[in-house]
Amino acid sequence: MVAIGIDVGGTKCLAVALANDGSILDSLTLPTATGVGIVEEVADLCTALASRVGKAATSLGVGMPGTVSHDGVVYLAPHLPEVRQLPMHALLSSQLGIPVVVDNDATCAGVAEWRNGAARNCDNALVITIGTGIGVALIANGKVLRGHHGFAGESGHHIVMHGGEECPCGRRGCWEQYASGSALRRMANGVSGEEVLLRVVQEDKEAKRVLEEFASWVALGLFNLVNTLDPQVIVLGGGLGSSGVLRHFVADALHKQMPPSDLRPAPLLLTAQLGPEAGAIGAAVLGKEVIE
Ligand SMILES: [Zn+2]
Repeated sequence: MVAIGIDVGGTKCLAVALANDGSILDSLTLPTATGVGIVEEVADLCTALASRVGKAATSLGVGMPGTVSHDGVVYLAPHLPEVRQLPMHALLSSQLGIPVVVDNDATCAGVAEWRNGAARNCDNALVITIGTGIGVALIANGKVLRGHHGFAGESGHHIVMHGGEECPCGRRGCWEQYASGSALRRMANGVSGEEVLLRVVQEDKEAKRVLEEFASWVALGLFNLVNTLDPQVIVLGGGLGSSGVLRHFVADALHKQMPPSDLRPAPLLLTAQLGPEAGAIGAAVLGKEVIE
C-alpha cells in the first residue's frame, strides 16, 4: 500500500512513492513523452515505481504544468503543446483502477510545502515557484484556493507593465516576464540566474545591480498578492526561488514597497524546504487525501 505522486515537467517526469510519514521511499525519472503518450507514461511510471517498492499503489496524484479543471481535464500546458483538453483523470482512473487526482504542478508544490514543508500549520500562505516561469499556489483560510473552474493562481500572468514584454499567453507585460528565471537571464544579458547569484556572492557590483532590479519585480508581484490574500507566510520555491540570496534581496525590496509595519504587518518570507521533489510529493499527498 503506497501513495504515488508524479510531477510532469516540460522535459522530465519525476515519480515518488510516499511513506505514511511523508518521507520518500523511492523515486523514478523518465523523459516526458509527447502528446497523449503522456497518459501511458504516467500510468507505467506509477505501476513500475509501486512494484519497485514491493507494494500496490493505493492512489496516484499527478501534477501537470498547465491549467487543470476540477475534474482533472488538462486544458492547456504551454510546454506540452499537443496537450489540449486532455481528460487525464478519466483516462488514468479507468486504466489503473485506483483513486487518481490531477492538479496543476505549482498547486502540488504548494500543497507539499503547506502540509510538510515551510508553510506547515499556516492557514493563509502563498507558495511561489520561480524557475523558468512562475507558478503560484494560494492557501486561503486553511484550503487550497482553486476558483470556479480550478484555474485560480495563474498569477504569473498578472500584468505588471502595460504594453511590456510579450508573453506566450498572448498578452504583454505579465509578471512572469519580469520575475522568472527567463526574465533574470534577459536582464543579465544572457547570464543564467544561477551564475548571477554566484557572482552576487562574489560581490560583483553589476550582478548585484541586476539582482536588485529583478528582486524589485518579484516583490512588486508579491505585494499585489499580499493585497489580494493577506497571507501569513510567503514561501519562495523552485530552482531559482529557493535561493537564500534571492530571498534576502526580495525581502529588502518587499520591505521598501510595503507600508510601515504598524500600518500593515509584513508576511514572513521563507524559502521552500522540500526541494525539486516538492511537486511530486504534493501530488502524492493530494492523491492520498482522496482516500482518507
Ligand atoms: Zn502571460
